[in-house]
Amino acid sequence: MSEFNNLRDTFRRLGMELTEEKETIYRGYMEDILELNESINLTAIRERDAFIAGHYDDSMACAFTPEFQEAGRIIDVGTGGGFPGIPLAIAYPEKEFVLVDSLNKRIKIIVSLAEKYGLSNVQALHGRAEELGRREGLREAFDLCVSRAVANMSTLTELCLPFVREGGSFIAYKGPGSDGEIADAAKAIEILGGSLRSVEKAYGGPEGTEHRLVIVSKKKKTPAKYPRKPGTPGKSPIK
Ligand code: SAH
Repeated sequence: MSEFNNLRDTFRRLGMELTEEKETIYRGYMEDILELNESINLTAIRERDAFIAGHYDDSMACAFTPEFQEAGRIIDVGTGGGFPGIPLAIAYPEKEFVLVDSLNKRIKIIVSLAEKYGLSNVQALHGRAEELGRREGLREAFDLCVSRAVANMSTLTELCLPFVREGGSFIAYKGPGSDGEIADAAKAIEILGGSLRSVEKAYGGPEGTEHRLVIVSKKKKTPAKYPRKPGTPGKSPIK
């Protein structure tokens, strides 16, 4: 049995086929990340089955939403070792992905692996979301912003929603115990121009680590004062 059977099944449920070519890319990217992980911290996962479940299947969860299916240009904020951006970009070469991280060592790795595997739909940008979210060409320039394991929901909304165009969406991957932080983010979501559309159970991750997808629709432009300066959204989340 191939260790990629679950991912193959995820592809099928999405109406696609995990081709041999794509499987080779997923495998190569995983091997490279696991090897690089010995010198640069990219993931706590060191075992292949857990990597595929925890990083690949889990990242694919948002592909089941109409927001993702309809999006052409997507930004992944705090991508780390490329999650969820890279698995999604391999699966959907016709969509454009911008992967952002404040740690340049991680961005350099993504740039070189994207080139190695011919992922011409991936651009990796070094910087803090608080600064990049003010840059022309990035602010309100994406159909969808995704983010996993970066900050609490209120902080994350301030980091992510500025990138989203009116009518677009933001999807946060959150753990099962996130009711409190989602409730605490109500004010931030409203102030930043969003509206909570739904909280959905995401399928794909390993048992016990299933994520929920918190889906926020962007209704209005984000006020010019947001995001606040680097560090402030984390230190004093909007309440
Ligand atoms: N999304 C990945 C990595 C999570 S770790 C995954 O799920 O595996 C969080 C990452 O967010 C780190 O790589 C960190 O450098 C980055 N990060 C934290 N705050 C950030 C900010 N304000 N702007 C950009 N990146 C940020």
